[in-house]
Amino acid sequence: MKSALFDYVKPKSITQAIALLQEHGDDARILAGGQTLIATLNMRLSDPSLIIDITGLDTLQGIRFQGEHIRIGALVTHTEIEYDDLIKKHVPLLTTAAPYIAHRAIRNRGTWGGSIAYADPAAEWPTCLLALNGIVIVQGPEGERRISADDFFIGLYMTALEPDEIIIACEIPIASTTHWFAFEELARRHGDYAIVGMSAVGDQIGHTLNNLRIVLLGVDTTPIRAFKTEHMLEGKSLDDALIEVAVQCLRDEIDPLPDLTNTPDTKRHLATVLLKRLLAKAQYKQEI
Ligand SMILES: Cc1cc2nc3c(=O)[nH]c(=O)nc-3n(C[C@H](O)[C@H](O)[C@H](O)COP(=O)(O)OP(=O)(O)OC[C@H]3O[C@@H](n4cnc5c(N)ncnc54)[C@H](O)[C@@H]3O)c2cc1C
Repeated sequence: MKSALFDYVKPKSITQAIALLQEHGDDARILAGGQTLIATLNMRLSDPSLIIDITGLDTLQGIRFQGEHIRIGALVTHTEIEYDDLIKKHVPLLTTAAPYIAHRAIRNRGTWGGSIAYADPAAEWPTCLLALNGIVIVQGPEGERRISADDFFIGLYMTALEPDEIIIACEIPIASTTHWFAFEELARRHGDYAIVGMSAVGDQIGHTLNNLRIVLLGVDTTPIRAFKTEHMLEGKSLDDALIEVAVQCLRDEIDPLPDLTNTPDTKRHLATVLLKRLLAKAQYKQEI
């Protein structure tokens, strides 16, 4: 299928892009990497009358230090994140998670900002951003707003972004010397959207994990934190017995939604498998 007809504009500034969003409201769509939008247009799941192509806005590019944070521009591609040295050193969770996103061709074009804006509950970047306690920076007619990832993902493909706002970047705290992270997911084939996935971030001292943020993808309408399991593990010494208690805690805590091929029970089981793997990594790290 081919998309319905639309007008196309490539603005020269963010201000111009925002003015177009204000003028056209829900009839306009931002185009970034196009890896989701073009598919939805061609399948006629979306038929905007205006496409606003932001790929010429250089201020949305780049990965750099911003105080105690790493700032990732909205137009940075998945591949750029995968191979960036600053990311590898200071936000290594993203380096680990990147290869799980689709295939190389999609990672070469798809953007960080597009993934955060689209807010697919099975996508890797929203889950990582929430685990990393990141901040989404958006710009609208009134200027910039900074929204915590905790408040950004509010429903199925729904975010705190207003219709006349654009994501310009995200900021993520730089990893501390005790930083611990892990990422795992289960998909039928590599490159498919995951059935269930998990990002976890904390501070590790010896066998103990603190300040844990454990986030699941593919189980609810948004990425979700496993608050009870985080709390249960906080400050305790990891061993096989504790991991079994944590697995039981997660099993009781989550209430997964089914998808076309997986029941809630299957997803609950898979989530516990992932937790066990993640915690075993933290335990093993201290024993080598
Ligand atoms: C076959 C296939 C498999 C895929 N598998 C995965 C996967 O396993 N994991 C995964 O995470 N993703 C996957 N994707 C999606 C891919 O990662 C997309 O790149 C991403 O979801 C959207 O980024 P984009 O830059 O392509 O955005 P676009 O397609 O250009 O836009 C997506 C949406 O976000 C809006 N938008 C884009 N940028 C901004 C911005 N800066 N501010 C405000 N709104 C904006 C657009 O208006 C649109 O509504 C897959 C895609 C395909 C086609």
